[in-house]
Amino acid sequence: PADSLALGHGTWRLLHTMAAYYPNQPSSQQQQDMRSFITLFSKFYPCPPCAEDFREWLKTNTPKVESRSSLSQWFCEAHNEVNRKLEKPLFDCRRVNERWLDGWVD
Ligand code: FAD
Repeated sequence: PADSLALGHGTWRLLHTMAAYYPNQPSSQQQQDMRSFITLFSKFYPCPPCAEDFREWLKTNTPKVESRSSLSQWFCEAHNEVNRKLEKPLFDCRRVNERWLDGWVD
């Protein structure tokens, strides 16, 4: 349905942008908070089958909260996992900053 596509698109925008502005050298508190955010997000994302698959993926893909670049790459991998499932083209993760920090229009 149209709503779930818009929800996904808007949610990825938020998540990738949040990673793009995450500190380069996060404090241990910030790292803990980002881990919590991701865990809680995975419980409340309002598409139950999406959230369930994401929680399953999280079990073997621990969030890389050590730095801005590691978190950005981690969200890119998470998104590519969904792209793979939906048979969409995979995104080149070397381009995350170009897309989400500096920005391009699509
Ligand atoms: P989107 O996939 O929303 O992508 C938006 C933009 O992000 C793209 O135009 C591109 O510029 C950029 N982008 C694409 N891939 C990457 C990447 N790997 N890294 C960085 N930037 C990238 N939908 C389902 O039907 N089934 C599901 O199980 C499902 N699970 C989801 C789980 C989560 C956690 C989230 C947030 C969304 C999920 N969705 C799911 C929604 C789905 O991922 C898409 O958001 C939706 O299909 C709309 O796609 P879109 O074509 O607008 O582009």
